[in-house]
Amino acid sequence: MFGWSINLFRIRGIQLAVHASFLLLLAWYAYNGFQDNGIAGMIWNSVTLVLFFACVVLHELGHSFTGMHYGMKIRRILLMPIGGAAQFDSITRQPKQEIVMTLAGPAVNFVLAAILWPIVDMTHWSPDGSPASILEVGQYLLVANIVMGCFNLLPVFPMDGGRILRAILAIKLPYLRATQVAVNIGKVLAVLAIAYCLYIGNYLTATVFTFIFIAGNAEYRMIQRQELAQAHWEEMMRHLARGPVAATEPPLLEPKPPQWELGP
Ligand SMILES: [Zn+2]
Repeated sequence: MFGWSINLFRIRGIQLAVHASFLLLLAWYAYNGFQDNGIAGMIWNSVTLVLFFACVVLHELGHSFTGMHYGMKIRRILLMPIGGAAQFDSITRQPKQEIVMTLAGPAVNFVLAAILWPIVDMTHWSPDGSPASILEVGQYLLVANIVMGCFNLLPVFPMDGGRILRAILAIKLPYLRATQVAVNIGKVLAVLAIAYCLYIGNYLTATVFTFIFIAGNAEYRMIQRQELAQAHWEEMMRHLARGPVAATEPPLLEPKPPQWELGP
């Protein structure tokens, strides 16, 4: 599913790319805007969507720059209709670093909201309908950043809140076990969220939670494979060494799967 992407530009060496389906979403928003308000509606809807995803990119850069500060390598940030994903070549297993790096994403959203707060008049905010002025775009972005920051802090692995939960658990538990507990808690919450979203008829959010459920499971399986490979490698080194030489280098691990963020 990560094929069909278009590279845009690089930011501090990180490739920014958009999934082809993102263009369909942009076309859909432009079409809806046109239906509402003609050419002006088409432009305002497109501008709002692009600015919203610019906030998603800034959220991902919050994670990425903090990760780079700790020596991690980030291959690219991919934008998809359901949100953004930062793809790490390597990632820390130190709980403190993971907590700081994970908090940096939502922190960016709250900083953006704090910047918009004094300059955007929310008096006549109407959550329905397409934005039709620069003020309404500002209102939308202010609310979107607060929602994005809060939503990502839900403890549903592999969302930011779930990663923080895993990092806290990993202080006391082995990494794989901590991941398993965080994933299981996330799965229960995701199922409850899916049921609730279906009940109220919010099918888009139900789809996002379904995707999160699948992504959490996939990441747990990947870490399980990494741990097995590590154990196998250490066992092999013990057999080869048959002496005081200890295994000091870890095997090459698979790249970490992306972190998922809130979509529109
Ligand atoms: Zn995040």
